[in-house]
Amino acid sequence: MGAGISAESGIPTFRGAGGLWRNFKPEDLATPEAFARDPKLVWEWYDWRRGLIAAAEPNAGHCALARSERAHPNFTLITQNVDDLHERAGSRNILKVHGDIWIQRCVVCGSERQERNTPLEEVPPRCGCGALERPGVVWFGEPLPPDIWAAAEHAAMEAEAFLLIGTSAVVYPAAGLAAAAKRAGAMILEINVADTPASSWVDYSLRGPAAEILPAILV
Ligand code: NAD
Ligand code: ZN
Repeated sequence: MGAGISAESGIPTFRGAGGLWRNFKPEDLATPEAFARDPKLVWEWYDWRRGLIAAAEPNAGHCALARSERAHPNFTLITQNVDDLHERAGSRNILKVHGDIWIQRCVVCGSERQERNTPLEEVPPRCGCGALERPGVVWFGEPLPPDIWAAAEHAAMEAEAFLLIGTSAVVYPAAGLAAAAKRAGAMILEINVADTPASSWVDYSLRGPAAEILPAILV
């Protein structure tokens, strides 16, 4: 799953129109270097995104996936999205390989907490120990959470069918999961409004919005 599944809930994708914030590209804000240089700027961007997410509702695509999970006991939802729209739609078996935008983690003592207030009272927010907190997301150049990634790889290897939904399929290692699933024997179905690097080798590629296609094809 990628940002495209949340596009129809009004959350801009990273590489599409509307992904820019105050003329910054996400690639220039979602990095450890950007945070070290200007934590306030980075937090202002995350606070803006939190505001969009808090005001958004799950769409018909999120809901179709949650229904599908209830119908198929081995259903695993692997997402690069850091929003909570899948949970709010009713999905439960979710692997967030790029973290969670509502988590704040201390850069010194490592303690984590969920903070759902937006706008934040203090930017950048601070831990009880006095040090800065950072968003609990994976930035460019950082490793993925090992346990969650291992579970995602395991699910991909076991899958009979793998849906590749609303992702530009260019950010690794997440983008490699579908290829690994295919090598392990899964049928790969892509759903996207546009062609991606994966379109040429997946088994089926459907063009259109996830919120329209998913309710039509999932049981
Ligand atoms: P993306 O913005 O790169 O791609 C979105 C994809 O969705 C595109 O292929 C687009 O054609 C498609 N799409 C748009 N609307 C759609 C719709 N209605 N239905 C179906 N498809 C639609 O997003 P991505 O692939 O999720 O990006 C990869 C990852 O890069 C992100 O998930 C994120 O983890 C990471 N990233 C993170 C940050 C951060 O803040 N940590 C910033 C930038 C990128
Ligand atoms: Zn601390």
